[in-house]
Amino acid sequence: MSFASLSLIDPLLRTLEELGYDTPTPVQKQAIPAVLAGRDLLAAAQTGTGKTAGFALPLLQRLTMDPAQAGAHAVRCLVLVPTRELAEQVYESFRKYGGKLPLRSYVAYGGVPMEPQIAKLRKGLDVLVATPGRLLDLHRQGALLLDQLQTLVLDEADRMLDLGFSRDLDAVFAAVPKARQTLLFSATFSDAIRGMAAGLLRDPLSIQA
Ligand code: AMP
Repeated sequence: MSFASLSLIDPLLRTLEELGYDTPTPVQKQAIPAVLAGRDLLAAAQTGTGKTAGFALPLLQRLTMDPAQAGAHAVRCLVLVPTRELAEQVYESFRKYGGKLPLRSYVAYGGVPMEPQIAKLRKGLDVLVATPGRLLDLHRQGALLLDQLQTLVLDEADRMLDLGFSRDLDAVFAAVPKARQTLLFSATFSDAIRGMAAGLLRDPLSIQA
């Protein structure tokens, strides 16, 4: 199976060719068609399975095909991750895969000054990758609006709970629109993760990698 048979648009296919990716991984084969179709996803996936491209490629495509623009301070797609290291990695993946697309992406995490992040959010963003604490700080300051959010991704959801982000996540869930696409990735599935998934996802496709 090829990436072209997954109905990805030309600029993405050309980027994948340049990167030397010729075959989708199992998680990509399952995730890409479902995410392109707008479905929610519950994915059991470890790092190294190609999960990042599994959600970044179809989300970049949806954002490109949808002519809606993010208004001032608004974000169309939010990816929450547990650590600044993962935030940088996931952001780098969006930049790499979206290199030929006219989209605006950015990354925000704690422990660094907030001013540049506030400035970057002023014109709105297509994709924001963030850790939960800083995301909420930006939201509470009014630097970030979540009412136009189309897609929410939780990456390494189990690690976010392990690191004590449960209450922050609940505050984010309360602030995002009910009509949205939600993707939840986790390496492990505790009762807490299952409960979170049950409350967040609508008729999700469950995939395993
Ligand atoms: P991830 O599991 O998302 O952290 O990805 C693991 C690594 O696999 C990353 O370095 C990607 O660049 C690479 N990768 C992802 N998908 C593919 C693919 N279909 N073919 C070759 N390499 C890939």
